[in-house]
Amino acid sequence: METKIVEVLSGIYEITLPLPMRPSLVNVFLIDCSQALLLVDTGINTPRSVSVLSAAFESVGRRLEDLDFILATHHHVDHFGASAPLRERSGARVYIHRQDAMRAQRMVSLMSVPLVDRPQSMAFFTSHGFPLHRYPPHAIRPSWMGTDAYSPVLEPDGFLEDGDVLDIGTRRLRVIWTPGHSDGHCVLYLEREQALIAGDHLLPKITPHVGLYPEGSPNPLGDFLASQRKVQNLPAKLVLPAHGDPYVDLRHRVDQLLDHHRHRQQRMLDLIQERPRTAFDVAERVFGDQERPAFHVIAATCETLAHLELASVEGKARKIEQDDRVLFEAT
Ligand SMILES: [Zn+2]
Repeated sequence: METKIVEVLSGIYEITLPLPMRPSLVNVFLIDCSQALLLVDTGINTPRSVSVLSAAFESVGRRLEDLDFILATHHHVDHFGASAPLRERSGARVYIHRQDAMRAQRMVSLMSVPLVDRPQSMAFFTSHGFPLHRYPPHAIRPSWMGTDAYSPVLEPDGFLEDGDVLDIGTRRLRVIWTPGHSDGHCVLYLEREQALIAGDHLLPKITPHVGLYPEGSPNPLGDFLASQRKVQNLPAKLVLPAHGDPYVDLRHRVDQLLDHHRHRQQRMLDLIQERPRTAFDVAERVFGDQERPAFHVIAATCETLAHLELASVEGKARKIEQDDRVLFEAT
């Protein structure tokens, strides 16, 4: 099995791990802090990913058992999925933002309850026009759900908080809370190296998924855009993203992302200018209506909803309720 480990800065290693989904790779970061060994994100808990991780550690003379700390940018399966077995193996202390720790607990508790048995969620999706009856219940969840692939730590050793400064051995990391992609997403700024471990907040080639879900933030896209501005002026010389290669121009990438969302919002506003529409209706036109796995269609609907909700907050759209349906119209 090919092991991809690159020393991106002295003692800081990017390890690229395989994923059984798209994106098909995720980067985690092994940081030698002299007196301590730190891993940022863990990858998914598949035998393949864990063995690539283990081989990467060995190629730099370390073992998974040597880990002292695990920090997570967020709770998603490709970032935090292997945290429980890695803690078990190493005794490492595990930290994540409180909101994402709660989210991980919620995900695990939901794994055993199909969507059809969750009337509130059913009502939420139906009200936004999603045709649940078109999909068999098992198709609505991603394939890793309910498997060991998602084995998150449910009781972390501590919580990451906005503005925390972590002095670990020779490294100093500043925690910056960047809600949007997930409510508890955090990036980590390495002060001395002027490097930003960006998780999914700032990817070089793709825009991260930002969706409005039941029980999540009421305005996740508003949060996400505010979180972009929050990091834009950091004096970072290098951005280390979780998907794709490291890059240098943080400011420019933030501008591109803000621009991308402005365009997408305009496209949606044009559609609801024609006539009031549900989020699902708008999503089919923006993201295409070809057959796709149901959970992709749900994700597209929730992403559209995040846009329409932000447009409502900004006074560009208005919500109207009609026969248990929520429609959006342009103002
Ligand atoms: Zn993610």
